[in-house]
Amino acid sequence: MSEKLWRKNLINIEPYVAGEQPKNDKIIKLNANENPYPPSPKVKAILEGKTIAELRKYPSADASVLRAALAERVGLKSENVFCGNGSDDVLATAFRAFFNSDKPILYPDITYSFYPVWCELLKIPYKTKSVDDDFVINIEDFKEPNGGVVIPNPNAPTSLGVGEKFIRELLENNQDSIVIIDEAYVDFGRYSCVELVKEYDNLVVTQTFSKSRSLAGMRVGMAFASAELISYMQAVKDSYNSYPLDQIAIETAVASLSDEDYFKATVEKVKATRDRTAKKMREMGFNVLDSETNFLFAQHEKLSAKEIFTYLRENGIFVRYFNKPRIDNFLRITIGTDEEMELMLEKLSEICK
Ligand SMILES: *Cc1c(COP(=O)(O)O)cnc(C)c1O
Repeated sequence: MSEKLWRKNLINIEPYVAGEQPKNDKIIKLNANENPYPPSPKVKAILEGKTIAELRKYPSADASVLRAALAERVGLKSENVFCGNGSDDVLATAFRAFFNSDKPILYPDITYSFYPVWCELLKIPYKTKSVDDDFVINIEDFKEPNGGVVIPNPNAPTSLGVGEKFIRELLENNQDSIVIIDEAYVDFGRYSCVELVKEYDNLVVTQTFSKSRSLAGMRVGMAFASAELISYMQAVKDSYNSYPLDQIAIETAVASLSDEDYFKATVEKVKATRDRTAKKMREMGFNVLDSETNFLFAQHEKLSAKEIFTYLRENGIFVRYFNKPRIDNFLRITIGTDEEMELMLEKLSEICK
């Protein structure tokens, strides 16, 4: 058989690998940064009030009700908000819309592993910048000419965040390119740069309902940016799919936003469990980074990450292990309920003995 040209030209992509989704309910699942608590009771009320006949109709094309609710929450206008099927979809749309220069885009070497996947898929040149031995991002690395910048704040899987000074310096030094700040974990952190959208017309901030709002299964994400940038993202989106969010996703997301008390209480619970767990792990000889997220990034002084990962797994506790340079002796552990974390700590103390 002769070699087909189209086959030779096939893009050689390595898709993103998500945390395993085991079928067994008894598994304690701390490997995908999901929220251990259910979404707001207001979300439940929406779902229970649904009639099947409603599914007949197409959803709103631009999720206008949700965009208005989001805009109000952060003090912007609807024209400053874009919604997509999870922030992965929102980020991919932004990459497509804004990263089209011959110059490489820049991002940290230790970061969300979806970025290289999109760059390969969309043929975007990129260059990674090494974080230091403590996984801290050096602002000086992001002052060279580039085709765009993307940084998660707080970063994943390191769990470390940067403050306003860093973000402002980044924006000041990159006025000719688009800067995307991926705030997937921001609700567990200390600083969101959404406010800066009013000041910088080259800033795109992405967030999600997947983590702090317990709606990962619903796929709702958003971007905040100048009206001009949002219009480009909407144009890209409408060029291949004119109905980004389904009707149920839109309504449940709006319901979630309407329950600020529940949202705050859940986030505070996760943060308290996180800080308690980190303290106990440090007492067992772990180096635990100062997390601003709903997960811990940790390394043991003697035991290998692989060994601990395997032991936990044999005991029905799934955490995330990345077999990658620089981080292959670290574990990423999602914060579960207090009960789940107690069980995990018990297993850790067994293997640390
Ligand atoms: C989880 C995550 C996302 C995307 O989550 P969605 O469920 O697609 O909204 C984006 N960026 C980072 C850094 C994440 O960890």
